[in-house]
Order: sequence, then structure tokens, then C-alpha cells
Amino acid sequence: MKTHALVLFSGGQDSTTCLAWALDRYEHVETIGFDYGQRHAVELECRQKILTGLRDEFPEWGAKLGSDHLLDLSILGQISDTALTVGKAIEMQESGLPNTFVPGRNLLFFTLAAAVAYRRGLQVLIGGMCETDYSGYPDCRDNTLKALQVAIALGMGQPLVIEAPLMWIDKAQTWQMASRLGGEKLVSLIQADTHTCYLGDRRTLHTWGYGCGNCPACDLRRAGYESFASELHDAV
Ligand code: ZN
Repeated sequence: MKTHALVLFSGGQDSTTCLAWALDRYEHVETIGFDYGQRHAVELECRQKILTGLRDEFPEWGAKLGSDHLLDLSILGQISDTALTVGKAIEMQESGLPNTFVPGRNLLFFTLAAAVAYRRGLQVLIGGMCETDYSGYPDCRDNTLKALQVAIALGMGQPLVIEAPLMWIDKAQTWQMASRLGGEKLVSLIQADTHTCYLGDRRTLHTWGYGCGNCPACDLRRAGYESFASELHDAV
């Protein structure tokens, strides 16, 4: 029986929705985050606010929510030359990938999460990766996660499942999933307390949340929210 899960929880919209999804379905859920020298390190402060918000507003979920693990992965920032880890402009590269791609990030995240899961007796790893409307990051693709699941299970000598509940849905459907799982209370918590903006901007609260409003992460989040909100409006 797979009843204990570990959610890769960054403090963003996607991983917060995945955390709610996991709390709805598993008996015991722990969270893991990584400090890798990201420019938007403010997301790490958001994590604590969200965990507190979930415990306060959803007592049933709070009872299942276990330890939070924050790992120092500053080595990743040191070896990376990307717009997420050093102060440079976001632009497209010759490879066809934006320079916000941090090579190896999800590969390391899942491997380290699996090591923590091994120690803690957790059988499922959950991540908010998605290849529906995304930036083309190869380590967010379904095939990458499936290959990782096999490699990790073999390398750890025990079965371990990787789940990515957002893989085939778009950002509007991610807002819908949050609404379905936790109603307006969860949508409001995601609006106010999660962080998505690559530049770490938390000065302006828009309907879709805080952010600069111009970076690719803000663009995706805004477009998804607007589509979600207009469907809600049409349904009334
Ligand atoms: Zn932004």
C-alpha cells in the first residue's frame, strides 16, 4: 500500500496545488524544498506561509501534513550559469531553450528527494512538472520522470513511484484543480501566498498573484488565471 508521500514543494502555484492533491489522497504527506541560490529565493519564505495557511484553514489536511525538509543545494547555483541563478536578462538560447533552464535541476531534486523518502519510509514522490504549457524544459517531461522513476527504484533497490498530477493539464486547469480540491479558500491562499515570478517580485498583488507581470513565469500564471476566471464567470 502506497500511503506515504513526499511532495517537491517550492512555494509556487504548481507545487502548492500538488501538495493539496497529495493531502486529499494520501494518509501522510511530507514536503521537501531546495535552496539552490535561486534569484527568487523569496519562494522559500512563501513555503512556510503556505504550510501554516494549509494547517490553519484545512484541519483535516493539517493532520496529515508531516515534516518539511529544506535542503541546501547551493552547489547547483555555483555550477550554473542561468538567468535564474545569476543576475542576467532572460533570453532564448540557440538550443531553443530559455536561459532560465537550470540543467540537472529536477534530476538532482528527485534523486535527493528519493534519498530523504528512503530514510523516512515514503513510497511516492510528487512533483508539479507539466509539459502542456511550459517553457520546454526537458527535465519537466513525462518521459524524463518515467526514466527517473526506473533509475531511482533500481538504484535504491526498492520500488518508488513518481507522480506528476499536472503533467497533462494547462495552467487554467491547474487553477480549476485547486478550486475543486479546496474551493475558494485554497484559490485565495494560492493567489496571495504562492510565488511564481522568476524575478522574485512581490511588490504588486494582481488578481493572479504577486509578480513582475512580464517574465515568462508571470505570463503563464496570468494567462492561466484569466482563462480560469473567465470560465468561472461564464459558468455563473
Ligand atoms: Zn515575473
